[in-house]
Amino acid sequence: MVTEVFKTERDSYDILNKAARLLNDGALVAIPTETVYGLGANALNKDACLNIFKAKGRPSDNPLIVHIAEPSDAEKIAFTNHLYYLLADKFMPGPLTVILPKKAVIPSEVTAGLDSVAIRCPVHPVANALIKMAGIPIAAPSANSSGKPSPTTAQHVYDDMNGKIPLILDGGECDVGVESTVIKITDNEIVLLRPGAVTVNMLLEVCPNVSIAGAVKEELKSGETPLSPGMKYKHYAPTADLYLIDDKYINFIEFVKEKQKTESCAVMCYDEEIELLENKNLLPVGNRGDIKKQTKKLFILLREADKLGVDTVYAHLPSDEGESLAIYNRMIRACAHRVLGGINGKG
Ligand code: AMP
Ligand code: MG
Repeated sequence: MVTEVFKTERDSYDILNKAARLLNDGALVAIPTETVYGLGANALNKDACLNIFKAKGRPSDNPLIVHIAEPSDAEKIAFTNHLYYLLADKFMPGPLTVILPKKAVIPSEVTAGLDSVAIRCPVHPVANALIKMAGIPIAAPSANSSGKPSPTTAQHVYDDMNGKIPLILDGGECDVGVESTVIKITDNEIVLLRPGAVTVNMLLEVCPNVSIAGAVKEELKSGETPLSPGMKYKHYAPTADLYLIDDKYINFIEFVKEKQKTESCAVMCYDEEIELLENKNLLPVGNRGDIKKQTKKLFILLREADKLGVDTVYAHLPSDEGESLAIYNRMIRACAHRVLGGINGKG
């Protein structure tokens, strides 16, 4: 299959039309969103959705997020509640996914047999315009091969999906850079399943009852059933061994300088550390305090680390608070919980 790539904006009617037709015909289309690129299919078409799992090599027990154009479109596919609309008022359209009891119109293949469905209303103008134009809900996980870092540029999607899908819409680099915040809700309670740009503090402004699922920060215990199937899969892993250094306990610069002398390694360092390290295989993540930029660059740099062909990658252990929790959650899984130094240290 030939994979076409088109630069696309909200008013690229011909291209959006083509994409909407493909989706209605049961084909897969890669779509830019504000978080990462999605691999979209008609959420009401079981066979189209099964092709998402095939193209990604995604385990069939890991459910898909269903994308809608307006918060109220959730009524067609799920049983909403009061809290859903409070959240929608504040964060939709935007990088928040809400899990609700599903209606029968969503095939069980989309939700991996669960009786709930994950719903998101993207704010990206291309994604939003396309869902409206297609007139159907769009099931879309991240458009990477399973296990690889999520794609944040059309080139990343092309690297993973060339020959497997007919169309990639190129909307430039994604704004946020990590996947949406995923929450499960009842009438008066929120459980955070995956941290993203909508933070715990932001959720607390809407509902005082917010808890964080254990697997967001910790390894799943063997035999434990996760609240979200995606939690149990190795994710975002670069080919090289990634180690996180807890710089409260280890002098990052001294430690890494030694490694640079003896190992084939790359270093994800803060911009202000570039001058202090040997200028070899450095992957600057942004300034120490610039969490937005660090989030945006995270998956780009993990993919670049792979291209360098090094044996190991060293990076700072990110803070697990505030906006940084999303980076912490992705990095801790990318390194398979290999943290050097400190109470969590295993090295
Ligand atoms: P991705 O589509 O790759 O961004 O991943 C979507 C994430 O949402 C995965 O971790 C899924 O396990 C999770 N998810 C989707 N639907 C549900 C659901 N109904 N219940 C719990 N987790 C879900
Ligand atoms: Mg994914």
